[in-house]
Amino acid sequence: MVPELAAGAGTLKRGTMTAAADVPGRGASWYDATAVPGRERGPLTFDLDVDVCVVGAGLAGLTVARELARRGWSVAVLESRRVAWNASGRNCGFVLPGFAESMARITERVGLQQARAMWAVADAGRAYVRDTIRETAMPGVDPVDGWLRIAKFAEEPELAENAAWLRDQFGAEADIWPAEQVRESLRSPLYFNAVHFPTACHIHPLNYALGLAAAAERAGARIFEATPALGLDPAGIRKRVVTPSARVRAAKIVLAGNVHLGPLQPRLGATLIPVTTFVATTAPIGERLREAITYPGAVSDTEGADNHYRVVGDRLLWAGGMRAWNADPRRFARRLRADIRRVYPQLGAVEIEYVWSGTLGRTVHQMPQIGELLPGMWVASGFGGHGLNTTAMAGLLIARAIAENDGTSRLFQPYELVWAGGAAGRAVIQIGYAGARLRKRANALAARWLRRRDRRHKPAASPGPPIAPSDAAELAAEMPTPVLVASAPGGGGVHRPRGGDARRGRAAKASPEAVASPSMPPTDHSERAPGGNRALDRPR
Ligand SMILES: Cc1cc2nc3c(=O)[nH]c(=O)nc-3n(C[C@H](O)[C@H](O)[C@H](O)COP(=O)(O)OP(=O)(O)OC[C@H]3O[C@@H](n4cnc5c(N)ncnc54)[C@H](O)[C@@H]3O)c2cc1C
Repeated sequence: MVPELAAGAGTLKRGTMTAAADVPGRGASWYDATAVPGRERGPLTFDLDVDVCVVGAGLAGLTVARELARRGWSVAVLESRRVAWNASGRNCGFVLPGFAESMARITERVGLQQARAMWAVADAGRAYVRDTIRETAMPGVDPVDGWLRIAKFAEEPELAENAAWLRDQFGAEADIWPAEQVRESLRSPLYFNAVHFPTACHIHPLNYALGLAAAAERAGARIFEATPALGLDPAGIRKRVVTPSARVRAAKIVLAGNVHLGPLQPRLGATLIPVTTFVATTAPIGERLREAITYPGAVSDTEGADNHYRVVGDRLLWAGGMRAWNADPRRFARRLRADIRRVYPQLGAVEIEYVWSGTLGRTVHQMPQIGELLPGMWVASGFGGHGLNTTAMAGLLIARAIAENDGTSRLFQPYELVWAGGAAGRAVIQIGYAGARLRKRANALAARWLRRRDRRHKPAASPGPPIAPSDAAELAAEMPTPVLVASAPGGGGVHRPRGGDARRGRAAKASPEAVASPSMPPTDHSERAPGGNRALDRPR
């Protein structure tokens, strides 16, 4: 029994033990419970000579392994735990166009022509996921078309302008839904206009990863689970990777370890901020759910971590909340249930059956790390909350670079490895998220007050919306607490959030980013990461 649910809302069910279930403190997921039967893979127990050694069997490592094996290269994948046990098997399953970073900022940094090329390769990643599911008749992945990015609390007129910009400049398929159309399919009093991306889709990500692993093996790749890469020597023509029981010799190494690569490559690991986010599924809801939500695609009603959801069968799959440190997902069950109730009050108190977490790796510039670090040693990492299309993109680009000498991966050279600020970087992300959530709650309270006022047909007499004691307590609980940052660059001390968040939020709203950055984690705080300007040398 989850303590928070003990008051009567229900219990959490344990999924059957599948590929991604054995993660202490992360919670068994609905994906675990609905995973297709997979096969266990043993560890590497003998020395091996291959063309390419891939470290990490998440979506990035599996895609590059499959694509290299299809091109006739011999490939060994080393995985510390199980295939897709972390982010790749525990995410929301939204397969979106673009990147975690907004196309506006990308354009600002690399110019329109290169930004267009980057959009095109990211979109090829999106299409790769769709095509692979279809071509391999992948079981249990169940892709469903469409993604709506909704304006919550108030009309956002700039959404139309932004969608037009994406269409005109990048060829994006993006159309505007007026508030009436949104509310016909999503009956929430909080919703206004939206942008619809018809070529996006949502999938069962764990079954996709398991299907991808099977496809890589059919193409000839070998995957070894419970086989951490403990050390590597990238010098020379034949590089060496050390595991607990054996060594791999390979002409090329691809590091696709995401946030868990730190022990093997500390300097590379220090370029990622681990961000843990939370996902829940409800118990079957029945007729009330069918009346509330008729849109079958994926839905995001904010730019930040809250909230992203979709209907899966008779249930709601709902994501929200973030922590820059590990946190017990069960603590978030009540919070996610409250979020659902706020958006869809007609659903009442829904029962949460599964709640779990996953950790993504966020770079300071919010763009993935794709490239050759040293001759023959490649990295595919840092996909943030936007990894389903971009891991596929990275896998394709690196396989083409290695096997065909294709130079397209160099598009990502402007996004070099940047130190992520260590503990201070995490603190900044956490405070930024808390501030953004606080602003959203204030907006929600203002919207509620305006609705009540309109219902009573009274003129606006007071200077601001009244805050009920329960709401005020909730707001206070969400106030970012000062964080002691002992190891902050430039000296320790107490960092207090400043008013800059709100200013930055307004500025971001006025730019095309609101549409162009469909990412999971908070998006507009990267420039505040301490040390964000320090370029890190390539790991040696
Ligand atoms: C809760 C959540 C929701 C998300 N929702 C979405 C979404 O809806 N849409 C979207 O596009 N993105 C989403 N994301 C992001 C997306 O899931 C990730 O960006 C993507 O899965 C990253 O894949 P990866 O292969 O880089 O990393 P991972 O899945 O973390 O895989 C890396 C693997 O490398 C292994 N490894 C590390 N070091 C070693 C070593 N030394 N030896 C051997 N193995 C090693 C690890 O064990 C791990 O299995 C979400 C993420 C989370 C956490």
